[in-house]
Amino acid sequence: MALLDGKSLAAELEASLKNEVERLSIRPGLAVIMAGDDAASKIYVGRKEQACQRVGFYSEMVYLPADISQEALLEQVQVLNQRSDIHGILVQLPLPAQIDVTQVLEAVAPEKDVDGFHPINAGHLFNGTPHLVPCTALGVMHLLKSQQIPMLGKQALVIGRSNIVGKPMALLLLQEHATVTIAHSRTPNLAELCLQADIIVAAVGKAKLVTAEMVKPGAVVIDVGMNRSEGKLCGDVDFESVAPKASWITPVPGGVGPMTISCLLLNTLQAACQSLALSGTRG
Ligand code: NAP
Repeated sequence: MALLDGKSLAAELEASLKNEVERLSIRPGLAVIMAGDDAASKIYVGRKEQACQRVGFYSEMVYLPADISQEALLEQVQVLNQRSDIHGILVQLPLPAQIDVTQVLEAVAPEKDVDGFHPINAGHLFNGTPHLVPCTALGVMHLLKSQQIPMLGKQALVIGRSNIVGKPMALLLLQEHATVTIAHSRTPNLAELCLQADIIVAAVGKAKLVTAEMVKPGAVVIDVGMNRSEGKLCGDVDFESVAPKASWITPVPGGVGPMTISCLLLNTLQAACQSLALSGTRG
């Protein structure tokens, strides 16, 4: 078994991003909108802000009250859409219950949609011409590619079908010519599908769902899950029992999580470079 070390790869990516930023004529800017005071969201937003500082991006955290109206939230998005110093806009989820999340995500200008959740960016990914790709799935691809893990012709199983992780993950694996299966809560034969898979990506949110008996010897196991168990962070994979059977495995923490943040920075840089290219062609 070898560890797919997301923490180290994320640090390498950040170092190269920092270099690129120093050579750019503009400073990439990321705005993060957070409504309400969800404790976990606050931690994630704080990590994103710190990551921006580490690589020399401008960052702006827009904290809004939990009782904000749909109109007021959309107005905030529009203001950020218009600003030339902001190249990436991220709306931290979950949003308060009164908010129509779909409408908010669709209000973000597609060229600033660094989470890759806008239907235009989802459509590009679907068409096989990805632009801004959801950060977690992109991070997993970077991890796999960093070790030249073969995907072509391999059986890949993605457990979970969310728009945020499962679906984009499946599309990216498909683009690398894996044979992709997507499992979800109504899949009756999860263990059987797991045993057939060369690559398993677990993105469910259920601690230790994937156990050793479900994993083929030599499989690559990617654990996206972030669960709290007995006060500790753990993934969807029972790491202790699965690791000896896997050829490669991501730890939790230190696997996919740091890569998600690095890929957010990568997407923000891409959006900034794109805006620069557009302003250049305009004159
Ligand atoms: P989500 O929207 O709740 O989706 C979970 C998916 O898992 C759903 O498609 C659900 O199926 C499926 N599922 C539930 N129980 C199942 C079971 N017993 N067997 C098979 N599939 C099952 O969650 P998400 O946003 O995709 O996130 C998934 C996990 O990844 C969470 O732990 C989250 O915290 C973590 N996450 C981590 C990162 C990171 O950076 N590391 C980033 C994002 C998310 P149905 O569609 O049928 O309900």
